[in-house]
Amino acid sequence: MKVLDGKKISNDIKNEIAAEVDKMKSNEEKVPHLAAVIVGNDGASLTYVGSKVRACERVGFESTLVKMPSTTSEVELLQKIKELNENDAIDGFIVQLPLPPQIDTQKILMAIDPDKDVDGFHPTNFGKMALDMSTFIPATPFGILELLERYEVDTKGKHTVVVGRSHIVGRPMSILMGRRGWPGNSTVTLTHSHTKNITQIISQADIIITALGTPNFLKAEMVKDDAVVIDVGITRVADETREKGYRIVGDVDFENVSKKVSYITPVPGGVGPMTIAMLLKNTLLARERHRLKA
Ligand code: NAP
Repeated sequence: MKVLDGKKISNDIKNEIAAEVDKMKSNEEKVPHLAAVIVGNDGASLTYVGSKVRACERVGFESTLVKMPSTTSEVELLQKIKELNENDAIDGFIVQLPLPPQIDTQKILMAIDPDKDVDGFHPTNFGKMALDMSTFIPATPFGILELLERYEVDTKGKHTVVVGRSHIVGRPMSILMGRRGWPGNSTVTLTHSHTKNITQIISQADIIITALGTPNFLKAEMVKDDAVVIDVGITRVADETREKGYRIVGDVDFENVSKKVSYITPVPGGVGPMTIAMLLKNTLLARERHRLKA
C-alpha cells in the first residue's frame, strides 16, 4: 500500500509556483493577485480562507481578503463582485462557500467574470471542462487528478466509483475521470444518497472517490483488494484530547481500508492540501491569461 501524500505533493507544487513567481519578479512582471471574499463568521470557512491567503504569501502572490458581515445582502455582494471583476489589479478571485441563506449562491457564482473564476464554478468554465476545453478546473478535483498523475496511477479502462454528486467535488470528478486522456479514460459510476446497492457497486470499483462528509462511511469489507481510494471528506469530530477540541476525519476507515488497497489518501494530509495548491495553480493560469489579454 502506498499513501498518496498530498502534503508533500502540494509542497512540491507550491515550490514550483514560487519559482515561477521569482522569475516574474526578476523580469519585473506583475505577480499573480488572488482575492478571496468571505461573508459571515463561520469558523471552518474562516480557517479555509486564512489558509488560502497564507498560501498566496508563501509563493509570493499578492492577496486581498474581503470580509463582509453575515447580514450582507445579495445586492451588496453582487456589487462587490462587480468591483472585483472590474479591478484590473486582480487576476482571479473566489467567493468562499457556503453563503448565508439570504444570498442565492448560484446567482453569485454566475456574476463572477469567467476569466477570473479560479474556483472553476461558473457555468462557462464548468461547460468548458465537460467539453475537454482548456479552463479552470475546480481545485479539489484538479488536486485529485494531479495526485493520480504524480503517483502515476493507472486510470485507463478502470472502473471509478464516485460517492457524492456535489457541484464542487463529486460531479466534476465524475466528468474528469471519464474524459479522454490521463488521468481519465475510466468507466465512471456516480453515486449519491438515492443509489441502490451502493455497497455492491463500490465493491466492484478499481478506484473509489468518496466525497460525502460521513466519517467512516467506507469500510474495508466494501473495498476490493488493491483498489485505489481517494478520501475527500473533511468532518470535524469533537475530541477533548486535542487543543482545538476537535479532530478532522475523512469518509474512509483508514486504519482498516489501508491494509487492503494499492493507494490511499490520508485525512488530513491528502486531498485537502492539494485543493489549496491547485487554487494557486489556477491563479497563476489566470495571471497568464490576463497578461495575454492586456
Ligand atoms: P455535499 O454538497 O454535502 O454533498 C454530499 C454528497 O454526498 C451528496 O451528493 C449526497 O447525496 C451524497 N451522500 C450523502 N450521504 C450519502 C450516502 N450515505 N451514500 C451515498 N451518497 C451520499 O458535500 P461536498 O461539498 O461535496 O463535500 C463532501 C465532503 O468533502 C465534505 O466532508 C466536505 O467537507 C469535503 N470537502 C473537502 C474538500 C477538500 O479540499 N478536501 C473540498 C470540498 C469538500 P445527495 O446528492 O443525494 O444528497
